Amino acid sequence: MVHRFTLTTPLYYVNDKPHIGSVYTTLAADAMARWHRLQGDQVCLITGCDEHGLKIQRSATAAGVPTKDYVDCMAGHFAALWQRIGISHDRFVRTSTPRHQQLVHEFYERVHGNGHIRPGQQRGWYCVACEEFKDGNSEDGGTPHCAIHDRPLEWRDEENLFFCLSHFQEPIAQLVAQESFIGPASRRREVQRFVEAGLRDFSISRVDLPWGIPVPRQPGHTFYVWFDALLGYVTALPDPDGPQDLATALTSGWPAQLHLIGKDILRFHAVYWPAMLMAADLPLPERVFGHGFLTREGRKMGKTLGNTLDPEALFAKVGVEPVRWYLLRDIQFGEDGDIQQKRFLDLVNNDLANTVGNLVNRTVSMSRRWFADCVPPRGENDDAPPPSPRRRSCDHDGPGKPVLCPTRSPGRCHGNPGPCRDRQRLFE
Ligand SMILES: [Zn+2]
Repeated sequence: MVHRFTLTTPLYYVNDKPHIGSVYTTLAADAMARWHRLQGDQVCLITGCDEHGLKIQRSATAAGVPTKDYVDCMAGHFAALWQRIGISHDRFVRTSTPRHQQLVHEFYERVHGNGHIRPGQQRGWYCVACEEFKDGNSEDGGTPHCAIHDRPLEWRDEENLFFCLSHFQEPIAQLVAQESFIGPASRRREVQRFVEAGLRDFSISRVDLPWGIPVPRQPGHTFYVWFDALLGYVTALPDPDGPQDLATALTSGWPAQLHLIGKDILRFHAVYWPAMLMAADLPLPERVFGHGFLTREGRKMGKTLGNTLDPEALFAKVGVEPVRWYLLRDIQFGEDGDIQQKRFLDLVNNDLANTVGNLVNRTVSMSRRWFADCVPPRGENDDAPPPSPRRRSCDHDGPGKPVLCPTRSPGRCHGNPGPCRDRQRLFE
């Protein structure tokens, strides 16, 4: 039986061009997708763009272009970069398309019909850059600042629709307690503590924000990120030329086996999203993995610090494979990682140029010298089946399970060029 493997990157927010963090997640997802394809799995790798919201509307206004043109241009940057670096995605979903809106409405109607939506008043300090309300921030009466963006928050007092997350306290507590659901294990406790503190209903609509999907029967309301962007994972699945509805998504690869994301959005994927799916009577993703953040030479990267690493410039300078190799080989997957130029050069020279490069070079010369530039015929000892990665186990997995260390453990069990080095030694 063909094993299905649906995995997703986040749908990247298009208020700016791709940064190195999006590249990192996407490269990792691509490596996993390729690995599963080698196992014979029917893989669907989903990536795409989250294109609604106030921040995008404001960025477009600042750039002096219509919002639709702005998101088309930005989504184009992502698609072009993924093509350039050889990402093997099967779907590229955009949340500003009519097909997406259709599915968002069907999903909302189900959740509404099941009694999990209510109106409510949303009052508080809002960070437009985070696109979220901030808790308890009114020290000494002045305007509070967002700690992440170091910018003043805006006061909001508006009627919104709320999703009744509180209805799902028990099932979500049970879900996040399962070892297999959240990775790496170090982050599971964090999410459990959040759930134990008591789940609160959250706002799913905004008023006076025209750049968004309209909420049925609620004039002036558009959907806020959760009931819009998260649905993109489902929207992506049905064949683009076929029917677009939840029933079709269920036969086209939903539920996903893995949501691969950065640690900053783990809570939304491991708590909000499964509760929304429960509310719509839909099956849950099997696993959510929140990887760490990247720093550069020991420092946080940021525009204000002037030390961001522009992926396009980086690929132009050193090529795609060295970056892919370095990020996946050197950074312990799941943990925060530091990009260091010297280590990058050492690793790329040692692993790629010396070990892998020499192996390829020697193999090609032997083929040329002794086998007329061809692959030689199978020898007598070649009848034994090659070792299958599926049968290799690592310490973090039970026997017989499909193994891919990055998805199962934060270890580096297979993340070294050992097999190449072993073959290289055969020639010495
Ligand atoms: Zn902020």
